Amino acid sequence: YEGWYCVSCEAFKQDADLKGGYCLIHPTLKAQWLKEENYFFKLSSYQDRLQQHIDKHPEFIQPETRRNEVLGWLRAGLQDFSISRSTIKWGIPFPGDDKHVVYVWGDALVNYVTGVGYGTDEAMFKRWWPADLHVIGKDITRFHCLYWPAMLISAGVAVPKRVYAHGFLTVRGEKMSKSLGNYIDPLEAADRFGAEAVRYLLLRELPFDRDGEISWETMTDRFNADLANDLGNFIYRTLSMLQRYFDGKLPAPDGDATALDKQLQTAFEKAVRGQDKHMKALDFTGALDLIWEAVNRGNKYIEESAPWVLAKQSDQRKRLQTVMYNLVEAIRLTTYLISPFLPETAAKVALQIKADLKAPWATAREWGRLAPRTQTALGGVLFPRIEKPEPVA
Ligand SMILES: [Zn+2]
Repeated sequence: YEGWYCVSCEAFKQDADLKGGYCLIHPTLKAQWLKEENYFFKLSSYQDRLQQHIDKHPEFIQPETRRNEVLGWLRAGLQDFSISRSTIKWGIPFPGDDKHVVYVWGDALVNYVTGVGYGTDEAMFKRWWPADLHVIGKDITRFHCLYWPAMLISAGVAVPKRVYAHGFLTVRGEKMSKSLGNYIDPLEAADRFGAEAVRYLLLRELPFDRDGEISWETMTDRFNADLANDLGNFIYRTLSMLQRYFDGKLPAPDGDATALDKQLQTAFEKAVRGQDKHMKALDFTGALDLIWEAVNRGNKYIEESAPWVLAKQSDQRKRLQTVMYNLVEAIRLTTYLISPFLPETAAKVALQIKADLKAPWATAREWGRLAPRTQTALGGVLFPRIEKPEPVA
C-alpha cells in the first residue's frame, strides 16, 4: 500500500483529508508518504450492509451533521483499509504472519468488545454488549461509524445501538493547540473552579453536538452567576431562613396553594420533564437551561413571598410554613436534577435536607415528596465567588 499517512491520527489519508499536505485534524502535522506491504480489511464488501443499517436505524449515528458526513463517505464509495503494519515492530503480532503487527485502530477498536468479555466471558459479554451508547469525538467517526461496525458485522457481532460524536472546544475560534498556546489547561481549570464546577461549566456553556468556544472569562462569569449566585444563594438563603424561623425543622404546608406556589411547582415539573427528554438526547444545555429557570423561579419566589415579612406577622404563620415547605421541596428536586452534572454538590445538599439521592426517580421526581418535620442542617457556602483573572493584554 502507498499513501499519505498522519501519524497523529494513525490513519492513511485520502486527498480530500489533506490541505496542502497537512492533516485537516492536525493542521500543524505534515502527512508522510508511506509505502509498505499490508493486509487489508475488505471494507468495500460491507458498503451495502452499512448503508442498510444506517437507513434502518436513523438513531445509529448522532447528531445529524455526523450522520450526513458518514452518508457522504458511503456515497463516495468505501475503500478497503489496511489492517496491518509491516514497517513498525511495536504492536500486537498479526495472527499468521509474524512480519506484521496489527494496525493500531484494528486492536484499539476490538478493545470495546474484549473489555466486556468477548472471547473470554460470554455471560459478561451478553450482559454489556451491544453498547446502548458510544460517545466519541467528531474526528473519529470514520473509525466508529464505518470501520468498526463493518468489523463487527464481519465477525457476526451486534453493533452499538447508538454512536454520538461530540464537538471540539475552541479558543478564540480555533482548535486548542499547545504549539499555538491557545489552550485551557484542564488541571488549572480544576484548580480554579474545582473539577465539579468545570464539568458543569463545560456542559452548560457548550452545545454537546458541535464545536463550542470557551475562555477563562466566560467560565468565571458563569461560575459566579450560575453557581455562586443562582444556585448557591438559593440553597443557602432558604436553609438559613428555615433555621431562623423553624430551627431547621421542615414545617408542613398549610392552606391552599397560591398562584405563586403553583408557578414554582410548575417550573420544577417542567425541569423534571425536560431532564428526561433532554438527557436521552444528550442535550445537556437544554436540560440545564430548564433547571436554572426553575432555580431562578425559586429565587424570585423568595423575593415575592418575602418570608422575613411573614415571620414578623403572627397571623401569617401558616403561610410562612407553606412558603418554607415549598422552597425546601424545590431544593430537594434541584438536588436530583443537578446530580448528573454536580454530583458532589448534590450529595452535600441532599445530606443537609435528608433527601435520598438513590430513591427511584419515578417517585422522587414528584413534587411534594419531602416529609414535613424533616430536620435539616445548614452547610457552608457551596461556591464562593471567584475573582476574574486580569485580561490578557
Ligand atoms: Zn491527523
